[in-house]
Amino acid sequence: MNELDKRKREIEERIQAACDRAGRERSSVQVIAVTKSISTERTEEVVRAGYGQLGENRPEGLMEKGSHFPEKSVEWHFIGNVQSRRVKDILPHAQVIHSLQTMSVAKQIEKRAERVIDCFVQVNTSEEDSKSGLAIDEVKPFIEQLQSFERLRVVGLMTMAPFTKDEAIIRQTFRTLATLQREIEALQLQHAPCHFLSMGMSNDFEIAIEEGATHIRIGTALVGSESGGSV
Ligand SMILES: *Cc1c(COP(=O)(O)O)cnc(C)c1O
Repeated sequence: MNELDKRKREIEERIQAACDRAGRERSSVQVIAVTKSISTERTEEVVRAGYGQLGENRPEGLMEKGSHFPEKSVEWHFIGNVQSRRVKDILPHAQVIHSLQTMSVAKQIEKRAERVIDCFVQVNTSEEDSKSGLAIDEVKPFIEQLQSFERLRVVGLMTMAPFTKDEAIIRQTFRTLATLQREIEALQLQHAPCHFLSMGMSNDFEIAIEEGATHIRIGTALVGSESGGSV
């Protein structure tokens, strides 16, 4: 068994255990394999290992890898900061954008997209200045302003936990996001079904699953890094 298969097996066991603890079905959690730190060749191995949802955080990485794989053979998730002038580069490749947080980007999507783009609104749940995302009380007004947009659907909320080893703090930020997601879902807005929660990375995905994550974004724990030995 190669390194990647070993990592995959271990992560799958941990996901299953977290689902069991939370009384959830494994099928309610989607793994996005974050390939931002590995080459296109190694990304191919990740796809062969069975991952069909891949994440990139820079337009360059998305464009390079996105055009390498046959259309529709994999689903690309854009997880990084989006600048409005780069929306045109992202749209041809990304099926899902996890990091919507400005009206100018939303307007670019509305103007340029040729189909409906599924977006997560990024929330700064830890309210650290260094983290991107909307403040908690900005999220509802922002989503309400998107009502007339026809090319953009708010499928959920996304966050990154603060950089800490304190599990209680991490858990609290995920809980805060889940509460907000349920509040928005309850509004039953046609353009914002908001059923999903994109939260949890290599270091905290088990806590995220316990708190309701539907999409976990796993990089290093699954794919390693280009400098960190073989896949
Ligand atoms: C890099 C990245 C990840 C994956 O991080 P790991 O710690 O390597 O699992 C997840 N989400 C976002 C937004 C990222 O930029």
